[in-house]
Amino acid sequence: MDSDQDYFTSYEDLEIHRLMLEDYSRTETYRKAIHEHKECFKNKIVMDVGCGTGILSVFCAQAGAKKVYAVEASNIANIAKDVVKENNFEEVIEVIQNEVENVVLPNNEKVDIIVSEWMGFYLLHEGMLDSVLVARDKFLKEDGQMFPESAAIYVAPCSVPSLYHKWDSFHGVSMFTFAKLLRMDKSKKPEIMQIQPEDLLGTEILLACINLKDVQISELDSLEIQHVVGVNKAGKYQGLCLWFDCTFPVFSENCKPVVLSTSPHSPQTHWKQTVILFPEEREVEESEPLAFKLSMSRDIINNRRYNLQVELLDPETIDHPIPCSCDMSKC
Ligand code: SAH
Repeated sequence: MDSDQDYFTSYEDLEIHRLMLEDYSRTETYRKAIHEHKECFKNKIVMDVGCGTGILSVFCAQAGAKKVYAVEASNIANIAKDVVKENNFEEVIEVIQNEVENVVLPNNEKVDIIVSEWMGFYLLHEGMLDSVLVARDKFLKEDGQMFPESAAIYVAPCSVPSLYHKWDSFHGVSMFTFAKLLRMDKSKKPEIMQIQPEDLLGTEILLACINLKDVQISELDSLEIQHVVGVNKAGKYQGLCLWFDCTFPVFSENCKPVVLSTSPHSPQTHWKQTVILFPEEREVEESEPLAFKLSMSRDIINNRRYNLQVELLDPETIDHPIPCSCDMSKC
């Protein structure tokens, strides 16, 4: 994708919206997070950043919002306008077809809540969070809320049997040579695929946690972790599995936050997991320490993309694992 125009045009494909809408975990978690906090939405002014077909704006209006600014840059905004009409919320929801960066609200109005579904593969792919943060700085009241309010990226060592194990005896033929080349090829770019919980070889570690209320765009340019993780079970160490969770705000101490999780342990979502495959596999033993350095840095040419890089290290040479430099208390 070489320009923002191409990016927005890609969102005019109804099939993309069908995939997102039909992702039960995704859509239902947003509905729950909004509808279970009706007291937070009642009579409030909301902005839905990237409203797409308008479904999140309708959830907010159903929850009692006084006004919803549904901002959408692509022509899918026309569908959102019809969805608003279909649900009789023309008095509450105003669809604004524009990039949120260019939106001006009447009388420089500020909003109480920003709702957005901005997440891409491995959380940051597509770089839409940048736009949500611009909207936060331009439009959110001092004491306003972000829905979701935090996000975390996790990484764990894994085995990928669905890609590799079958080649040992494929229809009775050893295809080792092919599997070796396939592995080399696949290691060139991350693979979006579903990993089974039993294929995780060790406990996940936190690569980054992002508090949407105060993170700055520049902090998203580069994330890095160096860590040693113990193997939970013996197996073929073939890659690193990445996923993310997003957490919605809670308004009382007794409430458990609503979490949208894309972990292998959670129901499948359209994001699946992102796997960084290694060019060579390695047999690992239970409780063996594995060390790696993982970095995620924004591409210089296309800032909606990230370069993911893994360096496998010798656990002996790492004195002190350096976990990500985030303040967990904010997550
Ligand atoms: N909220 C919808 C769609 C989410 S997909 C839903 O949950 O189903 C993200 C949408 O945000 C896309 O339709 C895309 O065109 C839009 N978008 C991304 N960046 C934007 C920006 N800077 N300004 C306005 N819309 C944006």
